[in-house]
Amino acid sequence: LVNTAKMRKLIYVITVICLCYAQNADAQTVAFDSAYARQMVDTLASPFSLGRGYYRNADENAANIIATEFYKFQVEPFEKNNYYQQFHFSVNTFPHTVNVALKKRQLKPGADFIVSPGTPATKGTYKVMWCDSNTINNRAKLDKFISKKYPKKFVLFNMKGVNDETTKKIVGKVISSNTIGAKGIGQIKDKLTWSVSTTVDGFPTVEFLTGVITKKKEAKKISLDIETQFYDDYTGRNVLGFVKGTEVPDSFIVFSAHYDHLGIMGTEAIFTGANDNASGCAMMLSLAKHYATHPAKYSMAFIGWGGEELGLLGSFNYVEHPVFPLGKIKFMVNVDIMGTGDDGITVVNGTGYKPRFDSMVAINKKLNLLKEVKIRNNAANSDHYPFVEKGVPAFFIYTLGGIKAYHDIYDKRETLPMTKFKEVYILLTEFVKTF
Ligand SMILES: [Zn+2]
Repeated sequence: LVNTAKMRKLIYVITVICLCYAQNADAQTVAFDSAYARQMVDTLASPFSLGRGYYRNADENAANIIATEFYKFQVEPFEKNNYYQQFHFSVNTFPHTVNVALKKRQLKPGADFIVSPGTPATKGTYKVMWCDSNTINNRAKLDKFISKKYPKKFVLFNMKGVNDETTKKIVGKVISSNTIGAKGIGQIKDKLTWSVSTTVDGFPTVEFLTGVITKKKEAKKISLDIETQFYDDYTGRNVLGFVKGTEVPDSFIVFSAHYDHLGIMGTEAIFTGANDNASGCAMMLSLAKHYATHPAKYSMAFIGWGGEELGLLGSFNYVEHPVFPLGKIKFMVNVDIMGTGDDGITVVNGTGYKPRFDSMVAINKKLNLLKEVKIRNNAANSDHYPFVEKGVPAFFIYTLGGIKAYHDIYDKRETLPMTKFKEVYILLTEFVKTF
């Protein structure tokens, strides 16, 4: 074994070089404040934030939280003393009672059932008419069933054991349009996924989680007590700010995230939307916090979108009323669902800007950040979409793997892991450096 003084010196030198290199590699990526990101998720996804919906102007409260952060960091508003851009829409909400009971059994809102977001105010007890695979899988029986009208009945569809795609489509149409004239429509589902609606349907729809009703005799009758509040002219808002660039201040790199979510379904079921999209807001704000003290070559714009869950209303409104020309957007990255990352990320519209996507993949490889950076075609699934339609170069990034909670009461801050949040943050800040 050679262990002379010379060798020891050589090992020392190599170690010092390695340490310097490691430190240098570390210094290349920007600082990240994980406590801040977690704090923003916890604030926005608090039960007191009421799911960032429309009851008690919870969305406006969330917008205020974002604007307050902008102000704190001295992110500049585009308009003097005003971070907001308003727009208008209608929305159906469930601020008070949402009760569904079978015989004497009260079901748990959000856990056992959801009402469809367009459900109108309904109160009454109705006889249940079952339509299950015995009927649905027999074409003659199904045709006979759906040719009738059920004006006094609540018709409950159980698609378990129905596999034929054409049949599924036929029944799907009956359920969504109530072509059978039922008093109400029910459906048994393996996953309850809620949403929010700008319109009110002509009939109530209730979705039950598989296992909640196991026997027909448990649900001979159903009682609905559903209160709604419909706003026909609600004022929503986007939150906008920027940090002036050091070299090319009239061109912008945009980071955006929607802050709205689904609100509440009655007083019990709060859809806090920790992953969707308190996590994306935390990412956008973490980036704003960084660039406020470390301005980049280009101006950096930060946008919190309202009305996303209602159909990308904030971003669609924005592209018609941009606060600076859309042509001045060098690139835009919209983030939504930043809370996991165990399996990496997906870059929506990666195919539209392949060289940019490739540079993101190269950064990921070099810094060994995420398991995978997946490419996907453009899709109308978040606020990048109206921009892409207008020819603005944009990506939409979401994280993959981990928890499965989505548009349900289980998308909570307590269980949001934020597994690769820091890695995505580093990837994005490194990506900015390539411009
Ligand atoms: Zn979302």
